[in-house]
Amino acid sequence: MEIPYLCPACGTNRTRFNLIQQTVRPVKKDPQTGEIMEEVDASDPLQAPYRGEELRVQCGVCGVVETEQRFVKTARRGTGEKRI
Ligand SMILES: [Zn+2]
Repeated sequence: MEIPYLCPACGTNRTRFNLIQQTVRPVKKDPQTGEIMEEVDASDPLQAPYRGEELRVQCGVCGVVETEQRFVKTARRGTGEKRI
């Protein structure tokens, strides 16, 4: 997280971001009522584990949501894809 970001959409914002921590909660739901019946252990072989990113980032200026990597790569390139 201690890496410079640059928004890949607006291409100008390097300072304002919303960091979105993705928290995985494996559960079993009742199919009729939707009630959560059980917390499923992460090691349960019948439950596919979440393999998405832990963190997503929202640009605090234009509001686009992307992976952290997109913001980092854009900062390394030094410019956004869309120039203003
Ligand atoms: Zn932006």
